[in-house]
Amino acid sequence: MITDVGNEPVTVLKGIGDKTAAQLEKLGLRTVGDLTANFPRSYESFERPTPVISLPDSGIVSICGVITSKPFRSSKNGRVTVSVWVDDGTAKIRVFWFNNPWIANSLRQGKRLVFRGHVTRRDHARFLTQPKVWDAEDYESISGTLLPVYSLTAGVTNALMRKATAAALDRAGKKAEYLPEEILAKYDLRDPESALRSMHFPADEADLISGRSRMVFEEFFLFLLALKRLRQAAADGGTAPVLDGPDADRLMAALPYELTGAQKRAWEEIRRDLASGKPMNRLLQGDVGSGKTVVAALALAQTASCGYQAAMIAPTLILAEQHYENLKEMFRAAGLDRKIVLLTGAVSRTERAEALAAIESGEAEIIVGTHALIQEGVRFAAPALVITDEQHRFGVKQRETFAAKGGQLTPHILVMSATPIPRTLAIILYGEQSVSVLDEKPQGRLPVKNAVVNEDYRERIWKFIEEQVSEGRQCYVICPMIEDNDITDAASAVTEYELLRKRFRGLSVGLLHGRMKNAEKEDVMRAFAAGETDILVSTTVIEVGVDVPNATVMLIENAECFGLAQLHQLRGRIGRGKEQSYCIFMDGSGREETNERLKVLLSTNDGFRIASEDLKLRGPGDLFGVRQSGDLAFRVADIYLDARTLKAASDEAEFLFQTDPGLKETGHRALAERLDAYMCENGDRLLL
Ligand code: ADP
Ligand code: MG
Repeated sequence: MITDVGNEPVTVLKGIGDKTAAQLEKLGLRTVGDLTANFPRSYESFERPTPVISLPDSGIVSICGVITSKPFRSSKNGRVTVSVWVDDGTAKIRVFWFNNPWIANSLRQGKRLVFRGHVTRRDHARFLTQPKVWDAEDYESISGTLLPVYSLTAGVTNALMRKATAAALDRAGKKAEYLPEEILAKYDLRDPESALRSMHFPADEADLISGRSRMVFEEFFLFLLALKRLRQAAADGGTAPVLDGPDADRLMAALPYELTGAQKRAWEEIRRDLASGKPMNRLLQGDVGSGKTVVAALALAQTASCGYQAAMIAPTLILAEQHYENLKEMFRAAGLDRKIVLLTGAVSRTERAEALAAIESGEAEIIVGTHALIQEGVRFAAPALVITDEQHRFGVKQRETFAAKGGQLTPHILVMSATPIPRTLAIILYGEQSVSVLDEKPQGRLPVKNAVVNEDYRERIWKFIEEQVSEGRQCYVICPMIEDNDITDAASAVTEYELLRKRFRGLSVGLLHGRMKNAEKEDVMRAFAAGETDILVSTTVIEVGVDVPNATVMLIENAECFGLAQLHQLRGRIGRGKEQSYCIFMDGSGREETNERLKVLLSTNDGFRIASEDLKLRGPGDLFGVRQSGDLAFRVADIYLDARTLKAASDEAEFLFQTDPGLKETGHRALAERLDAYMCENGDRLLL
């Protein structure tokens, strides 16, 4: 976030009234500064129209021609298709829209328009699908430019976002420089104001690249400086020495399996850290299914056996409950009698009060909970270890929670993650000695069988799902969106759910998506985990960490809408039991290169490889939009794409920290101020 530009409400901008402001608020945009810091999701470029006769067989193209037929409407399986013929004088081509019946209103026969969409070839004919439509002159005025594409919500169009952002940039005006001069010169970085403007409204691609590189550098640089500060402060505090006891060994001996070599190594490293007398700050990285939970359990057991409290934080309620049940079972099997408590939003008031009292008195030895709950004012008696699962963020605010009553001890921190961050970044974040990797899958697991298919296989897939369910298995059906909209025909969870309920009358079908209330989500997920639901239709909300070993089939609708890394994470939900599992990627694009991209998933099961392939295969438009680097705090920077800048920023941060740790020199004064502000704003987003 950027603070030195206006904290004024968006309503100070011309053309933004209370109604628009309320809609912008839904996107988290309240102030002028919020708007300027809200970077485009991607950029759209508009190439000159191609003659129909020389269209390629695939890719995004624009054509300029006359509509030569009345719009034709057809509908199949509840999905409406509209089509027209377009002739540009060189040849004719058929143009299709799916699930967008309203488009017919703007398609008059004889009208000359520009159509921009995917061209595909089937048999001998090419056709154009899902194009956007412009009047020819309108298109002329934007061709050759890069247009920002923002995240939207109901009532907020991209045009509105562009206008509001432009006004916000004008209003915000001058931005003071705060990066040291040497650095600006060395890396040839632009001034902050023009760089920011180019992020939103680049003149061309080169302008975008140079503006962006400034933003990326400062983002990494501030992040790394803040991190160094926090680490320094943490290292200055003392910590609880968690020495070896018999509990971890007993727990290990009682497991129904042998630990993998990688698990043993990781545990060895953690054990050493815990006993060292210095606060541990370790990353335990392992692909989905690599068995991180049991390693965490060993650390929890060890800590509790030394008389300290240990906590494990999960990103979702379902996962917290699963960890809780798991741990109880592991400890019971080992004959370890530890007080384990669960703290989530689903527990009753009295249970919550009891849990809080037990945590405060020290009676609770192991605490499992969700992030939010641990945050709000829980007081620990003797916290010595905090484990976060599937989450990199562990902020200053959370840390305060663990500052025991009057105690100055810094807890040991173990961050567990399946996000495949590159080794260089892991080392920059945690240090060479503090990264443990589980690079070995537990034995006896059948690898998931994968298939990339298209609509022609639909009936066979339904039959296959029926068979699996009749054998007692369960199935996930994943859809990319929540509700149908008029932009793409991607299967939506709600529509799919209705469809499947009709198709599989005898079976129990569940629905899960992000707009449901938390309590509803919990119920649905619990029913699925308990085996009461046969088929669960869901959006990506099931992505993290859930373990339902009886689920053996995952059908991913419109797999082309997902990134490869995300698809890989999704399929990690199956293949967790003894039975053979199957992941089916439904490619709804009908395009050859999409199919090729998805096939990467068939050839490897290595999350790191997949993430880097993903990057190679994305188009330039995607590369420059705002991306999510797992759950790290970066808004512009991409940890893969910008690995070089990351290294440079890390070197510079290190140098600065060595030469002027307090940022006292005159040339660093502005930076010191900016860093303070950054740390205030990002206190709970920074990792420790
Ligand atoms: P993740 O790393 O994705 O969190 P989990 O900890 O959930 O993985 O482990 C996945 C499954 O593998 C669990 O059911 C767990 O009991 C099992 N598991 C873990 N370690 C081993 C092992 N060494 N041998 C066999 N099964 C294991
Ligand atoms: Mg896990």
